[in-house]
Amino acid sequence: MGYIFAHLHCGEEVLKKIGYETRSRRLFNFGSMGPDFLFADSVDTEKLFHNEKAEEFTNFLLQNKSVSDYALGYATHIFTDKEMYPVLMKFAKGDFGEYVRLSLIFDTLLARNVYNLSIEKVNLASKIDVGKNLPKETEAALKSALKAVYNIENIDFNGAYQKFIRFLYATYDPFLVKRMAYPLVKLITKFDIYKFTYPLLVGDIPKGFYEDVYESMQSGIRLSAEKLKDFAGT
Ligand SMILES: [Zn+2]
Repeated sequence: MGYIFAHLHCGEEVLKKIGYETRSRRLFNFGSMGPDFLFADSVDTEKLFHNEKAEEFTNFLLQNKSVSDYALGYATHIFTDKEMYPVLMKFAKGDFGEYVRLSLIFDTLLARNVYNLSIEKVNLASKIDVGKNLPKETEAALKSALKAVYNIENIDFNGAYQKFIRFLYATYDPFLVKRMAYPLVKLITKFDIYKFTYPLLVGDIPKGFYEDVYESMQSGIRLSAEKLKDFAGT
């Protein structure tokens, strides 16, 4: 994957390439989180959505013209993951915890190298927040895709969306003051907050890591643009 920042970046790049104008950029951006936001509601997204049915699920969403912005964003996530996942996993030597850690590091480096930004200064929530609730059509589209592709109904997409946005606001920490409370959060809630927040120091990274993952991201962007180019005209 790459994490939130990388997916926002990929979405932007795909839009530029295909020349598509969104009606709601935030909804598109939220779409570009793919199924990853469901971690906030403890859904095992790896097992459920990052598998061979991912594209079927995506295509189901894309067919629904009432949710174009969302579906298009979602598609950019799935296609870039497809290219980035194997490369990140190779560096993580197959370990999922390490894969997540490296994804966060990649975002940190991407923000620095491409935008000259310190990742903690980026207000991610404000780019993704579509309001108190997901738009009704978006929630309905997700539910019917879930039913059609997986034949399950018990995922609370709206609740997960709310938790995800709350998590992003709560961890937005441009002056690095909230971090001081993280050990306490971990102690009291047993929630491993470090696992999902950007590291302050990048630390040791494997040789060629940034270059290789960056390259895979570029092919993810190309693949997305290729698959989604017809969207721009409709
Ligand atoms: Zn993903």
